[in-house]
Amino acid sequence: MKTLKIAIQKSGRLNEKSVEILKNCGLSFENYKSSLITSVSNFPLEILFLRDDDIPEYVQDGIADLGIVGENVITEAGAKVTYLQKLGFGKCTLKIAVPSHSNLTEIQQLEGQAIATSYPVILEKYLRENDVKNVQIRTISGSVEIGPGLGLSDAIFDIVSTGGTLKSNGLKPFAEVMKSEAVLIGKEGIELNPEVQELMQRISSVLRAKETKYVVLNVAKSNLEKVVSLLPGVKSPTVVPLHEEGWVAVHSVIAEQDFWEKINSLKAAGAQGIVVMPIEKIIT
Ligand code: ATP
Ligand code: MG
Repeated sequence: MKTLKIAIQKSGRLNEKSVEILKNCGLSFENYKSSLITSVSNFPLEILFLRDDDIPEYVQDGIADLGIVGENVITEAGAKVTYLQKLGFGKCTLKIAVPSHSNLTEIQQLEGQAIATSYPVILEKYLRENDVKNVQIRTISGSVEIGPGLGLSDAIFDIVSTGGTLKSNGLKPFAEVMKSEAVLIGKEGIELNPEVQELMQRISSVLRAKETKYVVLNVAKSNLEKVVSLLPGVKSPTVVPLHEEGWVAVHSVIAEQDFWEKINSLKAAGAQGIVVMPIEKIIT
C-alpha cells in the first residue's frame, strides 16, 4: 500500500480544526508541536506540518498528495491543484475597506488610489475584472489595517471576520471580493486510489455528522403522527414505547441548520423532554 502524505498548517487558525478532523476520521497520530512530519499508525498516511502559504505548492508539486488549506491562500498562490472537498471551517471573507469617513460609493472611484494588502494577486484580478485602472497595490505581509492611518495607502484589502479590527483602525468595509473556507486539495489529476477514497469517505462522514444532531423526545401517541411528520430521520424515526401507557419516545437525526425551527415546531406539536446529542459519524 502506498503511503500518502497530507500537508496541514503547523500552527495558526487552521491547525486545530485540521488535526481534529483527521483524528475524528479515526486516524491515530502524535501531534507534537515540534515535529514537521508524523506518521499515522493505523492508516498509510504521513502528516506534514507547514506554513499555510507553502501548502498549495507542496501539493501542486506532488511533495504532498493532499493538503488542507484556505481557498484564499490557494487562489493567491495561483496553484494548480484539484479541489476535493470543502471542509466547513476557517470561513472568512476578503474585503476592500476604506477609512470610515470616506464617501466612496462605486468601485471605480478606487482608480488612482493606493491599496495595501497581503493578497495582491486576488486584488489585481478583482480590479481587472471590474475595470478599475491605475490602482497602486502595496503588498505588505501583515497588519494591513494600519496602512491608511500611516499614510501608506488610501484603502486596504484583507480578510475581515467580525469587522472589529477594521473599526478600531478607523476603517469600514467597502467591497466584498471573495469568500473562503478550508478545503481538501489534491495534486492536479490526483489518482483516486483506494486510500484516497477511503480518507475522503471518512472525512465526508465526519462532516455529515457535524451538520446533524441526534434528537430523542417523548410524545403522547395521539400526537405521534404530527411530530413524526416534522422529523425527516436518516430513514424514518425510531419509535419506542415508554413505560407510561399511551406515550412513546421518538429517536431521529435532524440537520443542525433547521435545528431551532424544528425544535419549536416539535414542541408546538406536543413533543416533550427533548434531548439533543452530537453525532460522531454517519456512515452511509
Ligand atoms: P502561517 O504561519 O501558517 O503562514 P498565517 O498567519 O498566514 O499562518 P492564519 O492567521 O493562521 O495564517 O490563518 C490561516 C487561514 O485561516 C487564513 O488564510 C484563512 O483562510 C483562514 N481564516 C479564517 N478566519 C480568519 C480570520 N478571521 N483572519 C485570518 N484568517 C482567517
Ligand atoms: Mg500564512
